[in-house]
Amino acid sequence: MIVVLFGPPAAGKGTQAKRIHEKYEIAHLSTGDMLRAAIAQGTEVGKKAKAIMDKGLLVPDEIVVGIIAERIVAPDCAKGFVLDGFPRTVNQAKALDEMLKGKALAVDHVIVMEVNEAELIKRVENRAEEARRKGEPVRADDDPETFKKRLAVYKAETAPILPYYEAQGKIRRVDGMKSIDEVTAQIDAVLGGGKQGKSWLGKWLTS
Ligand code: AMP
Repeated sequence: MIVVLFGPPAAGKGTQAKRIHEKYEIAHLSTGDMLRAAIAQGTEVGKKAKAIMDKGLLVPDEIVVGIIAERIVAPDCAKGFVLDGFPRTVNQAKALDEMLKGKALAVDHVIVMEVNEAELIKRVENRAEEARRKGEPVRADDDPETFKKRLAVYKAETAPILPYYEAQGKIRRVDGMKSIDEVTAQIDAVLGGGKQGKSWLGKWLTS
C-alpha cells in the first residue's frame, strides 16, 4: 500500500504517518527527516539543503526525488510506504508516478489533512513560546515568521498538486483540526483499519 499524507506544515502529518507505519507495517518516509539527517551527517546534500530549509523554502526537486528514488527500493518498503512531506511540487508528484510506474506500482491513497491556517499559526507561536520559556532551542524553520513563509510556499507550490491527484480520483479528505485519535480514526476509515483492526482470521492469514 502506498499512501501520500498531504497537508500544510504543522498539520500533524508526522504524528499520523508514524501511526500508519506502526499499524499497517509499512515504511514511514519523511523527506524532512531525511534532509535533517543529511544535515546532521554533514553530507553534500545536507550542506546544500540547510540554508534553503532554514529560510522555509523548498529544496530543489532533483535532490528530494533522488532521495526518494533511493529510499523506496530498500527492503522495508517492499510492503509499501507512507510519504510524509513528499511530493511538495507537481513535478515531484509526476516524478513519483513515473518511478512507481517503472515498478508496476501506483499511489493508492492521497489523504489530505484539512486544517485552519490561523489555528496552525497560533499552534506554532505557542510551541515556540513554550520552547523559549523552557530554554529549549526552536527549530529554525519553526520560528513563527519562517513558518508563515512555509505556509505561503505550501499554498503557492504544494497545494497545486491537489488537482493532479483529484484527476486520478485518489484524494480522501480528513478533518485535521480534530484530536490526534480522531484524525487517526478518520484515516483508518480510509485505509481499512490495519492489522490491529482485522479479525483473528485476518491476523492469522497475514502473520
Ligand atoms: P518538513 O519536516 O516536512 O516540514 O520539511 C522541512 C523542510 O525540508 C521543508 O520546509 C523544506 O525546506 C524541506 N523539504 C522537505 N521535504 C521536501 C520536499 N518534498 N521538497 C522540497 N523540500 C522539502
